[in-house]
Amino acid sequence: MTYDALVVAAHPDDAETQMGGTLAKLAQKGQRILLVDLCDGEPTEFGEPGERAEQAVEAARILGVERACLGLRDRLIVDSLEARLEVARLIRDCQPRWVYGTGDASVHPDHAAAAQIVRAAVFLARLGKWDHVAGGTRLAGQDPWAVDRLFFPHCKMEPPWSTFAFAVDVSAVYDRKRAALAAYASIFAKEDRLLEFYDAEDQYFGRMVGVKYAEIYRSHSPLVVEDPTVFAPGIHG
Ligand SMILES: [Zn+2]
Repeated sequence: MTYDALVVAAHPDDAETQMGGTLAKLAQKGQRILLVDLCDGEPTEFGEPGERAEQAVEAARILGVERACLGLRDRLIVDSLEARLEVARLIRDCQPRWVYGTGDASVHPDHAAAAQIVRAAVFLARLGKWDHVAGGTRLAGQDPWAVDRLFFPHCKMEPPWSTFAFAVDVSAVYDRKRAALAAYASIFAKEDRLLEFYDAEDQYFGRMVGVKYAEIYRSHSPLVVEDPTVFAPGIHG
């Protein structure tokens, strides 16, 4: 099964929080997207076992993406050889042009591990001759796959970025992002203002780039375009 884009996040709700608007927008444009959670996010603060998995399915349905779970352990995700090879295998299975990982995470150790795992996996996925590598049999027999781009959305547990590579205007689909996040009733307590703060951050970056709501990204390698007219107008030219 191949996909246009692969999103690898530590927990269910990470991708929705960081880039839910972008996912809704790309899905609307017809992209086939697989969102992979490294773990199931259990246990959750305000819910029973299994609830978060149901909420994750609902959030993916709202955004128009497919979803899978890699089955690592919540709170104990580490950048291991096994995890790198498993994600590299996934990349080779899905053959995406675009991979979205986790960017510059330092607060939550699962996020920090996820960032390293995805970076390594994108590199390993494009290498051949795994049958000559001790411990590399998981990738033997698969064709190498080089992705076009590895992008990192901003993790909202981290301080805001003062610089980023690009922003996606998600104003038109912001209701859909809100609806996807609202599906996670076991994570966001009613008295918690977290969803308001997420909204505020997307508005803040929207203000910086001259739109109502924006999600920001860094790029693993320098951006290049055939045609500079593809850019939307800048707020100050
Ligand atoms: Zn997370």
